[in-house]
Amino acid sequence: MIEVENSRGLSILGSTGSIGTQALEVVSLHPECLQVMALTANRNVDLLEEQVRKYQPQFVGLVSVEAAVEMKRRLAGLGIQVAEGPDCLLEAAVHPSSQVVLNAVVGSAGLPPSLAALGAGKRLALANKESMVAGGELVLKALEQGGELIPVDSEHGAIFHCLRGEEKSVVEKVILTASGGPFYGRSRKELSGVTVEQALAHPTWSMGRKITIDSATLMNKGLEVIEAHYLFGVAYERIEVVAHPQSVVHSLVEFKDGSMSAQLSLPDMRLPIALALSYPERWGPPFKKTDLASLGSLDFGKVDSDTFRCLELAYRAGKEGGLATAVLNAANEVAVAAFLEGSIDFLGIERVVEITLDRYEPQPMDSLQAVMRAEEWARSTAEDSLRKVG
Ligand code: NAD
Ligand code: MG
Repeated sequence: MIEVENSRGLSILGSTGSIGTQALEVVSLHPECLQVMALTANRNVDLLEEQVRKYQPQFVGLVSVEAAVEMKRRLAGLGIQVAEGPDCLLEAAVHPSSQVVLNAVVGSAGLPPSLAALGAGKRLALANKESMVAGGELVLKALEQGGELIPVDSEHGAIFHCLRGEEKSVVEKVILTASGGPFYGRSRKELSGVTVEQALAHPTWSMGRKITIDSATLMNKGLEVIEAHYLFGVAYERIEVVAHPQSVVHSLVEFKDGSMSAQLSLPDMRLPIALALSYPERWGPPFKKTDLASLGSLDFGKVDSDTFRCLELAYRAGKEGGLATAVLNAANEVAVAAFLEGSIDFLGIERVVEITLDRYEPQPMDSLQAVMRAEEWARSTAEDSLRKVG
């Protein structure tokens, strides 16, 4: 019998996505530990309605107004509050019955609710890495005032786990593992003609479309380097990336004495999700345990950042600081959407990001408004550059 002090009220932002649906599976495994209080989605009324009927939250939000009107019609008489528009994320983030907010929205639309959740003193279980990339300094400032942040991204969950009980001063390096995505080992020439379908076929993880493309370009690892910098207060020079095609070692920490700690499991996001929701407790395993003997060997290698240039662009923006990472992230969101629509080719993604970064003039990250202005500028600059690279 697992000891749980109190059942935790949970808001899930982005409950219809890859992380959101897996989080609800974790809730189903531990109904005595977690109670769903609020769910939000962009516009998927059918799946959200199914989730609402099963998990009985008090609050439901849809960013699309049209979808929210339809949801109100479907849930009429059930006594469930249905909200609409981007502010529904903020309402779910500060819902009085929730102690924990899982932010599983995709893109920097996740930043305002991350800040709101911390501002309301909640535990923020953060899958939305774009919150840290677009607004890391603001998230850290909000954390100084209250709330708690536990990463859900598997690499950061692993580092968080390795750092339990350790002083920051004994950390030499953090080492993020990278599966390398579907194009690991390919040359630039081979990358130029890859299709959307090939880029969406990730070898080890099943995820939403945007992060799957980010994994293929290695921008995902770049975003994770920036995320690690803010989450763990480690300088960029002390953050390394190593290729590890099996995605079993989720990341490592090297300490001053040269020893390393790592966290291992089969690649399945239900574990880092459950860890972020249960911390500091540990609940029963969300899937079959890892059998090392049947895994055979684990391989590590150098990441080819000359071929996959997005990783270096992310280091560059991170080291530049200020709003450069918000600009990098917004340009990447535009470029990935354009690639998915077929208007630019695969290598066009890095070119759009680079052109946008080249045009950016340094500014401090001192407010949410400043982030939003920089993002707006980056989106229109990236849109302009699409024609050049398309
Ligand atoms: P997804 O596309 O599968 O789901 C996104 C969710 O957000 C959906 O519920 C969608 O309705 C909602 N949404 C989309 N646009 C929105 C907007 N503008 N405003 C509000 N809600 C919106 O994405 P995902 O793969 O679940 O990823 C979610 C986040 O978690 C991303 O930041 C991603 O980088 C991160 N992450 C995902 C994985 C994974 O395995 N999927 C692993 C690590 C980190
Ligand atoms: Mg990750």
